[in-house]
Amino acid sequence: MKQKETLLNTPLAKEPIDDQDDHMAGSADTPLRADAFEMDDQLKIELIEKHFREIMQILGLDLNDDSLKGTPKRVAKMYVKEVFSGLNPKNKPTPTLFDNKYKYDQMLVEKDITFYSHCEHHFVPIYGKAHVAYFSSGKVIGLSKINRIVQYFAKRPQVQERLTVQIATELQKVLKTKDVGVVLDATHLCVSSRGVSDTNSMTGTAFFDGKFKDQTIKNEFLNYINSNTEIR
Ligand SMILES: [Zn+2]
Repeated sequence: MKQKETLLNTPLAKEPIDDQDDHMAGSADTPLRADAFEMDDQLKIELIEKHFREIMQILGLDLNDDSLKGTPKRVAKMYVKEVFSGLNPKNKPTPTLFDNKYKYDQMLVEKDITFYSHCEHHFVPIYGKAHVAYFSSGKVIGLSKINRIVQYFAKRPQVQERLTVQIATELQKVLKTKDVGVVLDATHLCVSSRGVSDTNSMTGTAFFDGKFKDQTIKNEFLNYINSNTEIR
């Protein structure tokens, strides 16, 4: 029943904590510079490695230590190739659509999609579950593609509100329908491991468009994602 609580508590209005803890996004687009991909991945890794080494040195760490000396390169590769790979449009999943041969005209729900992202204000993890639903406009999407779309947008420095909208609008575009609902339920390590150190709070965000603006349909989706919570 954790899920239900977070939805009821959806803390979109944040109390000012300290510095830049206001996690509200201004636009649904990730703020990227026009020249973001002029530099290739290899050069990005080399430069990040150099600068991360600098950060570790400033912190006073001994980079000759066996355990630490490989860290700058590991972090650089992890940033470019893994946790922030969703910044680069070339990594965007190409949707595979199928005809809705079964004439299935009910809601399709893909729930409990685990995702790992990073808070763009502190560069520490945000992790949680995404729940996605849609009504077919004549085409259906491979279920693994829904998962891939979630992962692609999660692999960016993010705010949860923007992540929710980016997943939803991409699905609307791909599925050619407005009838999409997305609910995200996540833990922010910048809240639980530092700052106010609240280890229990979770943040819920939601996007409902088209048929999902109808209260009955919205409830059907929410009831479904709140069922069988034992496995959480
Ligand atoms: Zn943060």
